[in-house]
Amino acid sequence: MKRSLYHDDVVFLSPAADFSSYVKYGATVVASGGIHSSDYINKLKQQGLHVGGTVWCLTAPGHDLHANPDLAAATARDITGEPIAIPWIAPDSHSNAPAVFGCVNHPAFRAYMRRKVCDAMAGGADGLHVDEHLGSAAAALSLGGCFCDFCVAGFAAYCAQRQNQELLRTAKVSSFENFNYRSFVKTYAPTRDQYISLKGAIPLHAEFVDFQLGCAADNVASLGRLAQDVAAGPVSLSANVCLPGLEHTVVVPQLTYCTGEIDHNAAQGGMGLGTAVSAYRMAETLRIPMAATATPRDWAFVNSQNAEQLVCLWIALAYACGQRFMAPNRMLCAAPNGSSQWFCGSAATFSPLYSFVKKHGFLLNDFSAAGPLSRPDALPVSFETTDKRKALGEALAARPATPLAAGDGVLVFPRVKGDGTVAIHVVNCSYSVNSKRIAPQTNLEVRIPNSIFNRNFSGGTAYSYGAEPFKLTVENQGDTSVFVLPELKLWSIVTFEYWA
Ligand SMILES: [Zn+2]
Repeated sequence: MKRSLYHDDVVFLSPAADFSSYVKYGATVVASGGIHSSDYINKLKQQGLHVGGTVWCLTAPGHDLHANPDLAAATARDITGEPIAIPWIAPDSHSNAPAVFGCVNHPAFRAYMRRKVCDAMAGGADGLHVDEHLGSAAAALSLGGCFCDFCVAGFAAYCAQRQNQELLRTAKVSSFENFNYRSFVKTYAPTRDQYISLKGAIPLHAEFVDFQLGCAADNVASLGRLAQDVAAGPVSLSANVCLPGLEHTVVVPQLTYCTGEIDHNAAQGGMGLGTAVSAYRMAETLRIPMAATATPRDWAFVNSQNAEQLVCLWIALAYACGQRFMAPNRMLCAAPNGSSQWFCGSAATFSPLYSFVKKHGFLLNDFSAAGPLSRPDALPVSFETTDKRKALGEALAARPATPLAAGDGVLVFPRVKGDGTVAIHVVNCSYSVNSKRIAPQTNLEVRIPNSIFNRNFSGGTAYSYGAEPFKLTVENQGDTSVFVLPELKLWSIVTFEYWA
């Protein structure tokens, strides 16, 4: 059954090897998985989980290529017609052939993805998760593609639909009928390397990127419609969206929610969280609920340093910013030589934190950011053109994602609900890479400018992780409300009472 993410959801990135993990963590969503057995999915549903099946839009693995020889030609091509290898995927273990991008505009690759959607939904999944949703558009951004015949014909049609005198002049044609952008580009850059270094200066490049990104988003929407047909009813549609990257926003209006691998700069401990805060703020700005995780490089650091407390900080930060951090049950670590290593979090460490999340859903659900991280006004509602994405970037930059701060290494996230209820999240980011611990704060003074809520407060209640709730005194000092937390270990959520 289709549903979005709630703020207090506990999300697993993929199915757990052991069913008891779901119970330990209080899981509510399995975001992706390629789970095809209806027995398995029914078992998950009986535990109250929302389950997503997965389709991968990047390439056809070796065994699928072997079974479907037509896929060998359905690859993204550079300006010389050569297939484009995927730098982050290891070569096939048997043939040692490099993995190459499938082209999302090639009919054979599209048919292949549709067959995979049918497989993914056959067991009764509640939603479709689209992995690597950019597909060959990723090759258009930085790797010199795709100039296959289907992309060339598609781009000619794209230009014809938007035809005006300026576009015709730029393309040096009188009509876009039979326009061949590959031949056009070759006059500027006949090789892949030349194209990659010159592409920004080649006419119609921005339009070509818009076309490729738009095709990727259309492909996701089309796969989502197919998933609904297979399920014979509405299903959730999600993708892994790399925020705060602007190119990934094109697909957002198609999605129910997203997952995201966010750089947490693990080696910097509590000092490296700026990218995560920006990504969470951007997700809220786009009104796309996000279930995040860290990057394989972050997980490799956590694994090698036994940095479990750092992960606790990441979990608290995500929920404090109105998003979710996926349960660190089994996370892929970046490892040399393409070998696989996993960080398998200890439920004893992390499940109490997720219990705190679920117990305090009334302080999480339906709140949105107030103050410095609030949603900018006057935003585009779709992001299919370079100009619209630029406008989004400028609106975000005009109000930088700099949270309020308190004491030494503490971030403060004011949030508010439609009925005026306030929740102030206070997160202790003073994780030391050396001690592997978060130093507790004592007698921490938190100052909230009254301009954020346009009111002052009579008192408050603090709900702290690892402690019983307690009442707080709120002092009004001029234009600022001030309260003191006697102790902050990791995360407190403070609600206020108002003067009558
Ligand atoms: Zn193509």
